[in-house]
Amino acid sequence: TETDERRFESNPTVCPFCGVGCSIEYAGRGSATGVEGPVNERGEICPKGAAAFDVVDSDDRLTEPLVRHEGRFVTAPWAEALDRAVDGIGRVVDEHGPDAVQFFASSNCTNEENYVLQKLARVLGTNNVDNCARLCHASTVAAMSERLGAGAMTNTLDDLSEADCLFVNGANPAEQHPVAFRSYLLPAVRDGATLVHVDPRANDTTEVADVHLPLRPGTDIEVANAIAAVLVEEDLVDEEFLAERTTGFDRLREHLAEVDVAANAEAAGVDPEAIREAARAYGEADRAAIVTGMGTSQHRCGTDNVHALLNLALLTGNVGRPGTGVNPLRGQNNVQGASDAGGLPGVLPGYEPVTDPDARERVAAEWGVEPPAEPGLTEVEATHRFGDDVRAAVVFGENPAVTEPNATVVASAFNDLDFCVVIDLFETRTAAHADVVLPGSAWAEKSGTVTNTDRRVMRMRPNADLPGNARRDFEILTELGQRLTDRPDAFDYDGPEDAFDELTRVAPIYEGMSYEGIGDGYQRWPFSAAEGRGTDVLHAETFATGDRTAPLAVVDPVPPADDLDADELVLTTGRVLQHFNSGALSRRSERLTAMRGEDVLQIHPSDAAERGIEDGDRVTVSNERGTVEVAADVTPAVREGVAFCTFHYPEPLANALTGDALDPEAKIPEFKHSAVAVEPAATA
Ligand code: SF4
Repeated sequence: TETDERRFESNPTVCPFCGVGCSIEYAGRGSATGVEGPVNERGEICPKGAAAFDVVDSDDRLTEPLVRHEGRFVTAPWAEALDRAVDGIGRVVDEHGPDAVQFFASSNCTNEENYVLQKLARVLGTNNVDNCARLCHASTVAAMSERLGAGAMTNTLDDLSEADCLFVNGANPAEQHPVAFRSYLLPAVRDGATLVHVDPRANDTTEVADVHLPLRPGTDIEVANAIAAVLVEEDLVDEEFLAERTTGFDRLREHLAEVDVAANAEAAGVDPEAIREAARAYGEADRAAIVTGMGTSQHRCGTDNVHALLNLALLTGNVGRPGTGVNPLRGQNNVQGASDAGGLPGVLPGYEPVTDPDARERVAAEWGVEPPAEPGLTEVEATHRFGDDVRAAVVFGENPAVTEPNATVVASAFNDLDFCVVIDLFETRTAAHADVVLPGSAWAEKSGTVTNTDRRVMRMRPNADLPGNARRDFEILTELGQRLTDRPDAFDYDGPEDAFDELTRVAPIYEGMSYEGIGDGYQRWPFSAAEGRGTDVLHAETFATGDRTAPLAVVDPVPPADDLDADELVLTTGRVLQHFNSGALSRRSERLTAMRGEDVLQIHPSDAAERGIEDGDRVTVSNERGTVEVAADVTPAVREGVAFCTFHYPEPLANALTGDALDPEAKIPEFKHSAVAVEPAATA
């Protein structure tokens, strides 16, 4: 098929949006269609998947490299743009050392591309590489790795349909993971499973919930501890599981004996009877699964929030069987894989710590260069140090000037860098601050693999050729690797499959996988080369911890960073069905913007009335970090004292208001609790 000069063809590949990983292909006339795949077995897709080609064919695509000349971007030949990129980064390395460069890996790009990018950073001599996982589930990964030994979904999407109770905490899968919701969670509910929804806001997931706990943002620990206390008090714990597979129950039981369920319910602003109902539904179920999202993880106590949830699963023995477990739903189509492939500052590919000499040695045997032993900077730590000890950035397919908290400050911090190179499809807000912008390839133009939310590695295949002089990301990254490091041979690949084979030799959880083995289906990690298959349900017999047991944790509530004045509301941010992440992709789709063109601020009727605000009025939302203007959506869907908007839009830019207090362990920012004043806009 041809549109203008570009050639399109139909080839099964993976949707570029959420972490469910539906199989889609080109269907002609600029549209995608679902094809029967490992996850969407009947070829179902959601509105975002159907609009995926709108991005590929957008008129905004960059088709020539851009270089800054006298303060403005001008187009340049590839040779000149790459020379400028190599000279600019090379000069910073020469003058300040490799740790003065920060690499942003991409949760929206392939495993092979992310593997090459993190290798480039490490061969250059720095572990300063991070990806968008830092902003979504870093805290979930930290808590689950520590307690269970693996920081990913314990179960599979398929087996969640066998649950008798679904405990959905801080997630809205009906809108954010629609095909997984309709294919696996909804059938469980229709079969009689009880759905408990813990969320400050009623949304499409709440519509099928049996119990809704509309907690105050920042009180997840109070709610989880109260539920744990009821489980112990009403003898709903699994004594045999606790004795054989966990440690620390006596200490936790003592702690929970001090928890006053009514006081915790009051602190969270929920009905204590609803907490008891939720605890009984979870504790009495034969198979109970926790499904968790960014409402849980994006707090300065995100790691502790997940620790408190993990207690519920361990107290009741709900781990290691189908229909149970703790299951983070990942946001971007390859946020799992970007992390698996090593796009994180503290771990090598396959999650082996950079501080482990054996792991470094094994990587060195493959690369010919040993990675540095000191963990690098996380994404938000790095942007806070731009112009200080971080002097250059390589930003690959991410948009931190929009997606990081306190985004106005982050955007101007990019101006403090000596040099910045961005590889992207569009002139994003981040690219606007770059010295060189290299036009890369869209999802439908590349080969490689991605890893979805339930650990399935799947193939991506080209459905379109490249527009203008855009280049494949894999080729751009390997060329930068050859020219920036003194090991050009280490970046001499025959193509993505060659890099994937190397990843399977370096990352133990991928060992034994191959393109041929994946075929039209998938291979799931952890993969057993000997058995030729992956593991569906993790921790069936033992945990992947040092002594093979899982510790219970005593978790105390942590107050949010932003104090609230009496007349302020808590702003909490999230996502809707029609758009995706920073909106750089989805807002370029006419059909998605036709469904939802502008953002709105959801505000409770009593909060609106107090401020003289009526439905549809323009309002200003402000705090010491910024001010934005937006239309009010007066609705009882949000609880009193809370306002909600998405982070999909550059205007109003929600992240101009969000705070950058970090979880001390996972370094994830507190997106979900910002104190704001809301008042009628002067123009209203
Ligand atoms: Fe794409 Fe997710 Fe929608 Fe599937 S559910 S079509 S992966 S956005």
